[in-house]
Amino acid sequence: MAARILDGKSLAAQLRSAVKSEVAALSQRGIRPGLAVILAGDNPASRVYVRNKVRACEETGVRSELYELPANASEEALVDRVLALNDDEDVHGILVQLPLPKHLHVHKVLDAVAPAKDVDGFHPANLGALMAGEPRIVPCTPAGVMRLLKHAGVPLAGAHAVVLGRSNIVGKPLSLLLLQEDATVTICHSKSRDLAAIARSADVLIAAVGRAKLVKGEMVKPGACVIDVGVNRLPDGSLAGDVDFAAVSEVAGAITPVPGGVGPMTIAMLLENCLRAARASS
Ligand code: NAP
Repeated sequence: MAARILDGKSLAAQLRSAVKSEVAALSQRGIRPGLAVILAGDNPASRVYVRNKVRACEETGVRSELYELPANASEEALVDRVLALNDDEDVHGILVQLPLPKHLHVHKVLDAVAPAKDVDGFHPANLGALMAGEPRIVPCTPAGVMRLLKHAGVPLAGAHAVVLGRSNIVGKPLSLLLLQEDATVTICHSKSRDLAAIARSADVLIAAVGRAKLVKGEMVKPGACVIDVGVNRLPDGSLAGDVDFAAVSEVAGAITPVPGGVGPMTIAMLLENCLRAARASS
């Protein structure tokens, strides 16, 4: 039987509309949430992501500013920009679009962001709070996945959740959030042995790897919930997730599409994080 589709696009639209009302209410009290986005270099995918984020801000009434730096910008120039934004009272959220050009140390730049304005949740203070079980600002993609799971009523307590990928921005924080919901969590990565068998034991399988259609039908337990975080550009220009959607949707109980699954949820969570940061500043 075909799996239930977990429609991130429509849930994200609902969340954005709620953010819009709350932004309007806060603005009436004299606080208009503001997001500053820093884009260094000319990565075409980053440019698309930034455009989508800025557009989402416009639609919800969040003020946005885009700072573009050349691909050869120095670390000092980037950090100076971040420090100036930390001091700007009209800016409540700062987002440094990743990946940064290779010569820049990502941690030096991210560590410069004031934790209260770190709407991506990548500052060590925010990641540490998550680790300690006291989340403050949670990274947007993991937060979006959790919201989608909760909205769909997927049981997590006692479930075996398998996360494919251990990046600092998706796999690791998502694993901590699942653990916090009392799932039994297994994290896999490129050196994991027998990925297929581990994946097949999952009640909730999350793919955040960046390899198109890596997860095949035979890697999924019948009835499992499969969340596809991956966004991969195929040679013909189309987008594919990390999950072979056609095959897996015949086995899984529920599945997110790409596009229209996790991606829109990430942006909705960014807007919520901006709203929260603006509220906290008042
Ligand atoms: P990343 O930093 O490149 O991390 C990829 C992870 O996958 C690493 O932990 C890597 O293992 C692991 N991996 C690679 N090949 C593997 C394999 N064959 N088997 C098992 N594990 C493997 O990527 P990311 O930033 O987490 O992003 C992952 C995917 O999600 C990408 O497609 C990205 O575009 C997408 N993404 C989507 C959103 C959204 O909003 N929808 C947001 C962020 C990212 P090692 O650690 O051993 O190298």
